Amino acid sequence: MLRCACEADNSGAPRRTVQPERACLECGVPFASGVAGAEFCGNACRMAFNNRRSKRGAEIYDLLMALRHDRHTATVLKVWTLLSRCAAIYREEDRAERDGRRSWRHPSEILARRPYLKAEILRPSRRKAD
Ligand SMILES: [Zn+2]
Repeated sequence: MLRCACEADNSGAPRRTVQPERACLECGVPFASGVAGAEFCGNACRMAFNNRRSKRGAEIYDLLMALRHDRHTATVLKVWTLLSRCAAIYREEDRAERDGRRSWRHPSEILARRPYLKAEILRPSRRKAD
């Protein structure tokens, strides 16, 4: 009987199995990995993807917070328009620099990784005190 080398490993290391080939989120090149859910062909691609998201996120974070928590200023400065413009610029950059591949994860993947985002927020009852 043939056995995979990973099954014979008794070192206590995580068991690695061959996962289906998938396209790297950064470069788009198909790759195989022993890690379930692997998204990148290597560290360089993982860092490039996450660095771009960090840079773009920093640009839109303050605008989004103002939109949500300082409506008057956001309205006067047309923050929603600025956010939309940022998104359009990012998409154009993706088309020019990434052969059109999107630079963001699907929302369902975000929710799968961060289930607390859709958790119900429990607040104290708003009943008047007697
Ligand atoms: Zn890659």
